[in-house]
Amino acid sequence: MTISFQLAIFEASVDGSLSPDAARDIFSGVMSEMLPDFGLRSLGSVTLEQPPNEELPKWKSKWHPPPLPVMVPTLQRITDIASLLCHCQLLGLDQHLSALISKLATEAKMTGVGDFPSTFLPFLKALGASLRKWNIEVQHSAFQGLFQHVMSTYIERYIQQPPPIFKDWTRETVTCKPDCKDCEKLNEFLANPHKQAADFLGGASRRDHLQAQVAGTGIEAEQRRKYASGSAYALFLTKNQRYIEIGRKAWEKRGEETRNSFRDIESEANLKALLGDAYAAIISGTLPEQRAMHYVPPLGTSANTANRLPPPGPRGIKRKSVEMIVIDDWVVGKQEPSLSRSLFCCVLFGVLSLFSLY
Ligand SMILES: [Zn+2]
Repeated sequence: MTISFQLAIFEASVDGSLSPDAARDIFSGVMSEMLPDFGLRSLGSVTLEQPPNEELPKWKSKWHPPPLPVMVPTLQRITDIASLLCHCQLLGLDQHLSALISKLATEAKMTGVGDFPSTFLPFLKALGASLRKWNIEVQHSAFQGLFQHVMSTYIERYIQQPPPIFKDWTRETVTCKPDCKDCEKLNEFLANPHKQAADFLGGASRRDHLQAQVAGTGIEAEQRRKYASGSAYALFLTKNQRYIEIGRKAWEKRGEETRNSFRDIESEANLKALLGDAYAAIISGTLPEQRAMHYVPPLGTSANTANRLPPPGPRGIKRKSVEMIVIDDWVVGKQEPSLSRSLFCCVLFGVLSLFSLY
């Protein structure tokens, strides 16, 4: 609701039904109200992500509960937030823009990497298109910092570093619940640089659990009798070189997927300007050097104080002196002689505060 209201205020200033100064006053006031809860996945219209419609193997339901539903923003919301950032820039609200961008950069760090394709990647594409539409200069801007940080966060967490090429039989360990003794033994075997093969005795479900833990890694797994003459079954695991090939191929595939996603963003956004000196590294799916990155101030610093934003400064025409009037608990700026506009602001603030209660 708040975002669509702000977009309407901006449009009113563009078509001339509201003066640019009035638009900035209202816009910045509403912005201060919404900043604490601002984010791609909070406020406004979001939809519940559908859980994958696949039958989980038996062991998985025992050890891993199904994932919780995830809130994903609609395309409309993504486009609205992109427009909102551009309007901040066009109205000269630099500190508001800086606060919004810090919030988004922080949100990107907290967002699960699997959620990027439905959140931050389409958002960057929409923002790139919006910046182009308004012909906004992006080099050395806060927008450059946002694109660089979100895209390098994705590279760091999704593609990751190339898998190690082990020169002995050491293999990466698995994760499980803390008191799983079977995985403890499995990890001892995986981390042992001198041991190529081992067998694990246990009931069928425990053997299945361990086999599932190494599935897809290239480690050979076979369940058979421990001794030809006995009745006890064991899981036999053997490390081999395929493990390294599989890890390498999976890493290359993640890199290719990421480069495709970035090319899709570039179809709408001028990434060369938006990524600046970090362009060549990021577009090829590698982390850029720190000195190529535009600084994004963390939330709460003096350069970016989300909850104590100043009123907008003078821009373009000389502003008239402002006196403060107090109506109940609301303090609003009033510019003589336009009393009707001040009252208009009061009504709008009242309506918004009511909405914020819901
Ligand atoms: Zn386990």
